[in-house]
Amino acid sequence: MNSLQRHPVDAHSNRPTEFDAVVAGAGFAGLYMLHRLRELGLSVRVFEMGDGVGGTWYWNRYPGARCDVESMQYSYSWSEELQQEWQWTERYPAQAEILRYINHVADRFDLRRDIQLETAVTAARYDENIERWLVETDRGDRVSAKFLIMATGCLSAARVPDMKGLEYFRGKWYHTGDWPHEPVDFTGQRVALIGTGSSGIQAAPVIAAQAAHLYVFQRTPNFTIPAWNEPLPAEKQKEWKKNYAEHRRKARDTRSGILYEYSQRGAFDVSEEERQREFEARWARGGANFTHAFNDLFLSKKSNDTAAEFVRNKIRSIVRDPKVAELLCPHNHPIGTKRICVDTDYYKTFNRDNVTLVDIRHSPIEEITPSGLCTRDGKYELDSLVFATGYDAVTGSILRIDVRGRGGRVLAEKWAEGPRTYLGLMTAGFPNFFIITGPGSPSVLTNVVVSIEQHVEWIAACLRHMKENQEDVIEATPHAENHWVEHVNEVAEKTLFPSANSWYMGANIPGKPRVFLPYVGGFNNYSKICNEVVAENYRGFTFG
Ligand code: NAP
Repeated sequence: MNSLQRHPVDAHSNRPTEFDAVVAGAGFAGLYMLHRLRELGLSVRVFEMGDGVGGTWYWNRYPGARCDVESMQYSYSWSEELQQEWQWTERYPAQAEILRYINHVADRFDLRRDIQLETAVTAARYDENIERWLVETDRGDRVSAKFLIMATGCLSAARVPDMKGLEYFRGKWYHTGDWPHEPVDFTGQRVALIGTGSSGIQAAPVIAAQAAHLYVFQRTPNFTIPAWNEPLPAEKQKEWKKNYAEHRRKARDTRSGILYEYSQRGAFDVSEEERQREFEARWARGGANFTHAFNDLFLSKKSNDTAAEFVRNKIRSIVRDPKVAELLCPHNHPIGTKRICVDTDYYKTFNRDNVTLVDIRHSPIEEITPSGLCTRDGKYELDSLVFATGYDAVTGSILRIDVRGRGGRVLAEKWAEGPRTYLGLMTAGFPNFFIITGPGSPSVLTNVVVSIEQHVEWIAACLRHMKENQEDVIEATPHAENHWVEHVNEVAEKTLFPSANSWYMGANIPGKPRVFLPYVGGFNNYSKICNEVVAENYRGFTFG
């Protein structure tokens, strides 16, 4: 018997060391998982790196941070009381408001007592003799659990690119995904913003309004649609809440888990005038709804080009300097194949006298100097650097943990050529190891809260099934996994997504395998498959 088994309480901390389940992460996924595990009567320990709950919304405190899914949809649906009582204040929730919400949930459901903060899971090894996971943390915890559940988030391993000289920079530097908790004041400063994805696009207008000068270092321009964020009147909320359950049900029956106006027409089913009218109307309503103007925008390059050109023309009409406008126009990927951004005044920001767009595609950053940075063709004196350079997405937060399954097999080695999972939920050779919104599930292509709820509920139902049938171990079969990986790739190949060098493809991390990470078959279809698997007695899984 392992020593952990003999000492269920740690002699020094007096903390228990044996649990039914360990959950890594206390964001939206970890909190709901904890709640459901408790309902099953299981003992649980959640380890969370931050000194508070909230995951993404705990770390991403950068200026302008805001969700691009509307408030009424980007929230839990599993408690009618919760969804009725919580009041949102804006159409799109700001980071601080979501963090308040998630803290409210932690208190309301008394979740904190099973969460250990400021503790990162560093290693987990499956002991086949005792059929338990032995979990280690950076705080020296050594615990064992029957089930290990990764609620580590798809966008939580922030990435600062290797930049020569960064350690000698005399000013301050920040990453949007690991922002300080105290306010950062850029007043009077010359600030560099590196990266123009969703984070950079949200941060730029807010930093520009404060800084003496903002330099936006752009390698690849992105498409962004205005949010037209506004206060959310109490009356409107009340109306929505009258039919909350029905709205949620309808959302779960869509490809993205979000209520958009999904068109049933192709871009060329209508005349040029009609097409432009549709794009105009959607631009005026704002948000990612724009990309659903026609049902073939992700399938046909020709159709996609019409939407892309519409946005490029908008950029040309907003940005006064034609050279700057042209530089902001994306040409190297179909619209939507990199995550579409949703902004507030992004393009207008480039009309300000204190903002300069720097093209680092043609003149790359060569080094950071003590007082700024040098590109191939220019030298910039700077007080602060802001990296909005993204994440080691979907797999990064799992693989930074040393996970070893049956026979000591290392997960990072198993996934060296790209992640392999069955349904994005489990991976063969790693019994009782679940991933919430893992690779091969719709995750980042959806309203992630909807995907989280579906995964948590699937896992909870599975554990209940095991309890009722006195099963101790569940595992995905290699055969089912192979089929699923093939299916995930096959579906992605039918779309325009793989044509973009996006983080969906792992293309933003040097050396990361080029594999389309999420499942693009649609949330509604995916959850149907998950239900069928259960109905067919957990097809593709074995129990022991
Ligand atoms: P991102 O989309 O990966 O964008 C990173 C940016 O940094 C890109 O413009 C990239 O250029 C640039 N970059 C990376 N390495 C660089 C280097 N070495 N030199 C120069 N530029 C470099 O990251 P993100 O903006 O943090 O967004 C990630 C995801 O988080 C989003 O797609 C979205 O899913 C989520 N998010 C959502 C919201 C929201 O809900 N509103 C807000 C923020 C983030 P290249 O394109 O050339 O690689």
